[in-house]
Amino acid sequence: MLTAARKCRLALALNQAQKLPLFSSAASADASQQPSPPRAGPPPIQVSLTESAGRGVFATRRIGAGELIHTAKPFITHPSSSALDRVCYLCLRKMAIRANSAAGGSFCSEACTLQARAFYEIDRKANWEEFDEYCRINGLKYPYLAKRLACMVIAGVTSADSLNILQPENLSTNMISEMGKECSLLRNAFMSTDVKHEHLAFLNDEWYINVLARIRINAFRIELACGSYEDFLASAAASVEAGAAVGNAVYILPSFYNHDCDPNTHIVWVDNSDAKLKALRDIDQGEELRICYIDASMDHEARQRLLLGGFGFQCQCPRCLSRD
Ligand SMILES: [Zn+2]
Ligand SMILES: [Zn+2]
Repeated sequence: MLTAARKCRLALALNQAQKLPLFSSAASADASQQPSPPRAGPPPIQVSLTESAGRGVFATRRIGAGELIHTAKPFITHPSSSALDRVCYLCLRKMAIRANSAAGGSFCSEACTLQARAFYEIDRKANWEEFDEYCRINGLKYPYLAKRLACMVIAGVTSADSLNILQPENLSTNMISEMGKECSLLRNAFMSTDVKHEHLAFLNDEWYINVLARIRINAFRIELACGSYEDFLASAAASVEAGAAVGNAVYILPSFYNHDCDPNTHIVWVDNSDAKLKALRDIDQGEELRICYIDASMDHEARQRLLLGGFGFQCQCPRCLSRD
């Protein structure tokens, strides 16, 4: 059984971050009075190999505490089932008017409508009753991201192997056998539509397992911060609504950030699924940028257990080495 905390990169929420000594008093005061706009130009980061953790993201110049390092658009999104009728089908922005969930979702703007039109049409054609029921009974959320990706592939907006750039999870035989059922429900939903069979050729067990192995350790649970963009820049005023997960999303660049239990960077979502990577403290040129995949307030043993079970590595960050 999947659990949110165990299987997704629950990025450090703002309200947790506030418990940490993030900013010098001078920096906080400046930020709250006059939020500075993000600097222009390319983001001050590069992806390179680390000594022991594969790829990582590094600062190409000094980055100041509180600075917005970059914003990343999601590659795949899906609203959580409880938020289906109140967030945008594509960008997960909250909408003032409740959508008709029977119509399969709705959009916050013309831009989202246009961007998603092709795969939204595919999605609407299929009958998701059995698929939804299975996911609901088993408490599954990641199959929805695979479903969205399948709609995108069928619509021709991305290729079937587009997630291969991301690290996969090592799946147990048990997990693999459970995925066969999910895949056949997904395939069946499309079979009843007029989608040509050759456009479904990619959708076999091997594709599904390969995709889920990547989604499971790279998906982020999206919790929108309350407040404005200015609140976000000032940070002190922004917070995350309790239990306000609006959906899940997969990103490419943010997935290259390695983990640290005492991170120098965090991810926040202000009003939609665009991920904003923000420096939690001053970062030197050449320093690796790291985020926390789990709830950083947990104790040493709980963190070690979660990271090994959910992400397959033994954390050797300075905080863990000091057994804090
Ligand atoms: Zn939208
Ligand atoms: Zn650690």
